[in-house]
Amino acid sequence: MPLEKLVLASGNAGKLKELAHLLQPLHMAVCSQADFDLEPVEETGLTFVENALLKARAAAAASGLPALGDDSGLVVDALNGAPGIYSARFAGPEADDEDNNQLLLERLAGQPPERRSAHFHCCLVMLQSAEDPAPLIATGTWHGQILEAPRGSGGFGYDPLFLDPKLGVTAAELTMAEKARISHRGQALAGLIEGIKG
Ligand code: IMP
Repeated sequence: MPLEKLVLASGNAGKLKELAHLLQPLHMAVCSQADFDLEPVEETGLTFVENALLKARAAAAASGLPALGDDSGLVVDALNGAPGIYSARFAGPEADDEDNNQLLLERLAGQPPERRSAHFHCCLVMLQSAEDPAPLIATGTWHGQILEAPRGSGGFGYDPLFLDPKLGVTAAELTMAEKARISHRGQALAGLIEGIKG
């Protein structure tokens, strides 16, 4: 079935901006769950894929449209995978990006560069409808290292602390187009687009 309109199941402005940019090649109408008065879904899953599915299903049910759910986060090796699925609320339910970044720096204080490895993970789930029994699922990962101080003003979330060692820049020092080419979300979306095209 050709996909003409898709609702993005996220309330995160940074992610919505990136997803809308990444979906441009598909030339379809993209709207956000905010257009349907949808309350944020409780992320009760214990994995990225479970939470992405919960978000996509709620958005598809509220809109009657195909929906794309995204769950992503930062996985830090020295913190046994934290903040992981709790990345958005690492420093508490009301935490903003600055609070989360501050807590991350505190948790890694005193750790040398070789103990500061981390990766971003993104899981995308697309449902044709809330009852779709066979979701399209795609994932992406982006490996890097957590700096001791923020650098750059682009992106969102943990971007200013996340160094891509091969490029020598943080995610916040990349343009949106550059980040889209290499990021966990860019990789997952490329996989999803392949899946959509069949
Ligand atoms: P979600 O909205 O529940 O998927 O939470 C995702 C959280 O993971 C965001 O609020 C950020 O803290 C973090 N995150 C995910 N992707 C990125 C990224 O591309 N850059 C920086 N932080 C990210």
